[in-house]
Order: sequence, then structure tokens, then C-alpha cells
Amino acid sequence: MSTNSDLVALARKHLYPNYKPAPLAFVRGRGCELFDADGGRWLDLSAGIAVCSVGHAHPVLARAIADQAATLMHVSNYFYNEPNIHLAAELCRRTGFDRAFFCNSGTEANEALLKLARHHFFGMGQPDRVRVVAFEGGFHGRTLGALSMTGTAKYREGFGPLGPVTHVPYGDGDAVERAVGRDVCAIIVEAIQGEGGVTPAPPGFLARLRAIADACGALLVVDEVQTGIGRLGRFLALDGTGVRPDAVALAKGLGGGFPIGAMLVTERVAGALPAGTHGSTFGGNPLACSAALAVLRILDEENLVEGAAAKGEVLHALLQQLVREMPELCESTRGEGLLRGLVLRPGLVARDVLTRVLEAGLLLTAAGERVLRFAPPLVVSTSELEEGVRALARVLSELRLPPARTYPAASRSA
Ligand code: PLP
Repeated sequence: MSTNSDLVALARKHLYPNYKPAPLAFVRGRGCELFDADGGRWLDLSAGIAVCSVGHAHPVLARAIADQAATLMHVSNYFYNEPNIHLAAELCRRTGFDRAFFCNSGTEANEALLKLARHHFFGMGQPDRVRVVAFEGGFHGRTLGALSMTGTAKYREGFGPLGPVTHVPYGDGDAVERAVGRDVCAIIVEAIQGEGGVTPAPPGFLARLRAIADACGALLVVDEVQTGIGRLGRFLALDGTGVRPDAVALAKGLGGGFPIGAMLVTERVAGALPAGTHGSTFGGNPLACSAALAVLRILDEENLVEGAAAKGEVLHALLQQLVREMPELCESTRGEGLLRGLVLRPGLVARDVLTRVLEAGLLLTAAGERVLRFAPPLVVSTSELEEGVRALARVLSELRLPPARTYPAASRSA
């Protein structure tokens, strides 16, 4: 059996160095627990960045994948396949959208939104509608199209020229009004900016975007890659808002760890990408779709969406208590359901704190500069949430001991 240090040494020699992982190799998981190659146990309240919605190694998901792999793993999109059709129907039933396109990641789902928007207007004889209005702090992925919509300059730096996108402050409807024009094909938005700092949209913002998009004739598309599939205590962040965008992007929690993304659209834009204009070899194959169908079944059978709302309140209360107890370190907490952020005081760097959080046996992620993000598997128990927040409280209280201490630069990235 390889140890952590064997594996890390080999990784450092052969893996492309675009990540800066912690010197740990996980070999096994169960629910919210992960185990490394040396047998160490870790509490995972990050779910692989909001992905492992039903926890690690859920037996129903594992069985569904194994059964499908032993039955039919892949066929091309020149043919129909049964899990693909059932998944499309099931997602439409749950969301009220009319059609689904499947791909393999959140980035690809957003890339599809962009191509949908441009080609919709191309097909309507308006080929000059190519610009997108997106938001500062928004994250939509790393391929060139998705990256052009991503609103953090440091991610875009060095990769230009990128597509025409105007980034405006998140939550600022007036700025959106000023930014739109007859050349805009879409406004893209997250209901809560995940990577940007677990920042919720202000009340009424999404409805205002719908009205602005309608007034200028553009599409409204919503990136639910991080917020969707029950994480906020409802299936989509949009549910209950009364806002109906033209399309949404899903990924992360949809496959519970198996790679799959989806674009769901209304009938209005169903003709925008006719046969031959977009596609994916792997997208929507039977294995990925069976995994996603199993995730949806587990969400229902274990009441995980309602549970996310209730457990989210528990997590909120625990984090509020931290803010009350350590106001010199913690500014506030925000988010919804099981997507929550603890906002640290200016001067603290979330990635630096994460290094110590990891040493305490806990996995969280950073969101933006100053936010520690909790995005646990939806199967998390109240006692696991308590254990995690207790561990974080210990780390924070150690940080505050020497009054004017500065913290070492992060040795890993989340
Ligand atoms: N959109 C949002 C809101 C995300 O949070 C992410 C990833 O963090 C993406 C898109 C990109 O998804 P992926 O990494 O699966 O391509």
C-alpha cells in the first residue's frame, strides 16, 4: 500500500502543476468522512466543492453505477439511450423546464448557455447580438467562453482576447440597465455567488434581471451549478422566486461525484441549437445519467432537499454563535441551506486559515478572499455539523491568542 508521502512524491513529479494540493491523498470515503493513504480520518464539510450531494460511497449510488457499467456504459448521441431520456424527463418534471442537454461539467453547461444565447439570435437574423452581461465575482468556469463570463480578473489574466462580456457589480440592477444594449444576447447570473464568496443576490434582483432582459430583448440564463440539486433546501435556487429564466446550467451535485452537467431550457429557445450545432461525445451517456437518476432517487427517499433546509438552519445558528463569540475574527455568516459562508474580518485570508482547518481534521473551502465556505454533503448529520464548527472554533481561538500575529502564506489551494 502506498503512503501519503509516496503518493505525493510521485504526484509532484508527474502531475501538471496547475493545482497546489495539500500533501494528502484520499483513498476512501463514507458519508461525510474521508480517509487518507495513511489511515487518517477527515470530516468533509466541503463535499469536493459542493459535488458529493449524497455523501461519499453512498451504497445506492455505487450500486446504480456498478449495475449500469455492467449493462451499458456508453453509446453515441447518434442513438437514444434509456437513462438519458428518463433523466431529461425527470429534470424537466422537477424544474418546469422543457428540454435538457447533457454534458460533463459546469463549465460545459455554461459554455452551452453561451452558445445557446448567441445562436438563438443568429437564427433570428440578429447575428450582432453576441455580448453577454455578467457579474464581478461570478464564476462560470475555465474554458475560454465560460472564462470570458467569469468575473474575477485574475482568472482571466493572460488568456485574452476573450469574448465580449461586460461585468457589472453583483446586485446592482441600475448597472445592468446601463450595461445592456441591442448587442446583448444574454445576462448570466448565479442566485448565490458561490466562488465569489457565498454572496446571495439581494431580494428582487433576479426578477429585475428578468425585466431588464425582456426590455432589451436578451435572454436571462442562470448558473445553478453550485446552488442547484437541493443544496439550498429547494431543488433549484430559483424555486419559489417566481423568476423563469430562459435556461439554467446544472452540474456538481447532479451526479453526486460522477461527472455530468446539464443545460435545461424553455421551449422558447428549444430551436436555438439545431442538430449539428452543438454536442458532446460523452455528454448524456447511460452511465452518467444512471448516476444522476440514482442521486435524484436518493434525494427523494432520504428527504435530503427538505433536510438541507432544516440542517442549514442548524449550521446557520452554529456559525452565528461563532460570530458572536469571536467578533474580532468573524464578521458575519451568510448563505442558504447547506451553502454557507463564514466571513472573516479584513486582514484574515481564508486560504491561510484553511491550512490550519485542515490540520484540525476538517475539510472546508475558501470562497473569495475572506470567506470560509461550508458545502457539506446533504446527508450530513447535525452532530457532524457541530463537530465541524467546534473544530473551526478551536482553530480560530488559537489564531487569536497572539494579538498581532500575521499568518503564513497558504501552503495549499482549496
Ligand atoms: N459555475 C459555478 C457557479 C461554479 O461554482 C463552478 C465551479 O465551481 C462552475 C460553474 C464550473 O464548474 P466545473 O468545474 O464543473 O466545470
